[in-house]
Amino acid sequence: MSTDVRSPSFAACCGAILGLGIGVVRPRRADARFLTSLTDAGLPKATVTVSVSALRQVPRAVPTAFIVEGRRHPRRIENSLASFVVSHPAATFIVDPGVCVNVGERAVAQLPPVLRASVRPGADVVPTVAALAEQGYAGADLDFALPTHAHWDHVCGLLDLPGVPVYLHRTEREWVTTGSVAPVGGVRDSLEERATVDYDLDGPPVLTFARSHDLFDDGSVVLVDLPGHTPGSVGVLLHTSTGHVLLAGDAAWHTYQVEDIRQKSSYPGGLADVDRDEAFRSLHRLHAVKDRIAVIPTHDPEAAKRLASPSSLVP
Ligand SMILES: [Zn+2]
Repeated sequence: MSTDVRSPSFAACCGAILGLGIGVVRPRRADARFLTSLTDAGLPKATVTVSVSALRQVPRAVPTAFIVEGRRHPRRIENSLASFVVSHPAATFIVDPGVCVNVGERAVAQLPPVLRASVRPGADVVPTVAALAEQGYAGADLDFALPTHAHWDHVCGLLDLPGVPVYLHRTEREWVTTGSVAPVGGVRDSLEERATVDYDLDGPPVLTFARSHDLFDDGSVVLVDLPGHTPGSVGVLLHTSTGHVLLAGDAAWHTYQVEDIRQKSSYPGGLADVDRDEAFRSLHRLHAVKDRIAVIPTHDPEAAKRLASPSSLVP
């Protein structure tokens, strides 16, 4: 799950909660014309493979109606605050370091009250720094961190990882640092006074995604454009020995959304997505390639299990 930015207005909150009820019975319909208009530019040519694993996290069961619009079964699905470690021959890095120690006080307490209840992690949530230690990593072992976007639950683990540089999409950095509304929940605290490398999506289309950035210039880690949830959201396309994996951030909160082209539920999704129309288009782009690559939404622990079973990655 993720959260936003501003303190939502009373009207916005009421609208989101009203929309939740409407969405259960009348979900937004997929745009068949847009779907058929998408062209597939193909996968990047990769000369190097990487490995990727999910760090341990404790999922919590949440009502499906709060995640996927129009989906009634099963009644509850699991949601977690996952992070991933990627090993490239030239670097080891973490994607979405999302949980700091004392996350309730240091991050969630900054969020608007209307959102706190729906996103508050359980008491047994595993801080990113602890999950890294379980796998034998200290902060010094990481060459950098790569958030898919700058919501609190994708960056606040950095609070316990001082000195780890951050790679951030320039569009996202500008949103965080100079936008009229700023993400809250420890986001600026996580990024301030930290070495950062801004990148642009200056590369060609990849699959159905309009722009890309090849991080190592070898096709193994390619960042692709997934706007809508936040202005600069990206997916991390990884070339593994058993197939391509796309860490999709919060472009979808659950695989059901990708399979069925169902947007996030109005509450809290309507308060979390910066641009619902753009986010819905990004969801179409994911749907169009779901049979070619393994799409792993950050908060979908069932999807992340595929990383531990490499044979299940091959579509
Ligand atoms: Zn988010």
